[in-house]
Amino acid sequence: MTTPVPYELFALRYATRVGRRPEFFMGGDPHDEPMAIDYFVWLARRPGHVCLIDTGFNEAMGRKRRRDFLRDPIDSLELLGTHRDQVQDVVLTHFHYDHAGNFDRLPNARFHMQDREMQFATGRHMAHKVFSAPYEIEEVTGLVRQVFDGKVQFHDGDAQLSDGLSLHLVGGHTMGLQFARVFTRRGWVVVASDAAHFYEGYQCCRPLPLVFHVGDMVRGFARLRELAESDDHVVPGHDAMVMRKYPAVSAPLEGIAVRLDEAPLKIEDTPLRETPNH
Ligand SMILES: [Zn+2]
Repeated sequence: MTTPVPYELFALRYATRVGRRPEFFMGGDPHDEPMAIDYFVWLARRPGHVCLIDTGFNEAMGRKRRRDFLRDPIDSLELLGTHRDQVQDVVLTHFHYDHAGNFDRLPNARFHMQDREMQFATGRHMAHKVFSAPYEIEEVTGLVRQVFDGKVQFHDGDAQLSDGLSLHLVGGHTMGLQFARVFTRRGWVVVASDAAHFYEGYQCCRPLPLVFHVGDMVRGFARLRELAESDDHVVPGHDAMVMRKYPAVSAPLEGIAVRLDEAPLKIEDTPLRETPNH
């Protein structure tokens, strides 16, 4: 088997918010302290292929949802040397508002989504606020329009977009959540998106309370490990540590974009808290 041509892989941080620890762990957390949550899109690029993983939200949505909007995730691709017109494939890990906006601004992209995510976002479960709250009806209907425009490729389970980039259905957080696996010069990196929001969540197996199927979410943690070269090759979807753990793309992009295709920096990890006893 020949080794795939490696992708460059970047995380671009476009918004942030400070929450409280208890809201991010099922059953709460005895330490009622502030905890940052960052919002990212991820770019995988090699000669002949440009793939964006998730599309983020825009400034108006940031205001509506009271998130600190830092920069436009689509315009900011330019900071990495990619114009939005160059994006050929978009992986939508799921349709939550913080992952699936801005799709109308990528004119040359084909959108990769799971059958089950479309079923979930347009089906019976959306009658319940507990599941529908993180979705935006205008975005869901907009994505349906993309289907009618012939711009969507559906998948039912795992799929290969190239020899160095694949998608993996896990569900859990939503019915059709998928994550991406990307071959880079340091080996196979897993862009977990919301299959693992935080390092602590999946390392200590502490699911997020915003969940459709707890069993699938927990099984998803194991799946991330199976498909990554090592634990250091799993990149969580919302952890503020990602910006500190990986080298900045360049000095001016400190705090804005990091390289996930380079080994993590040797920084002192925040000590992980033990799972509380109930
Ligand atoms: Zn999310």
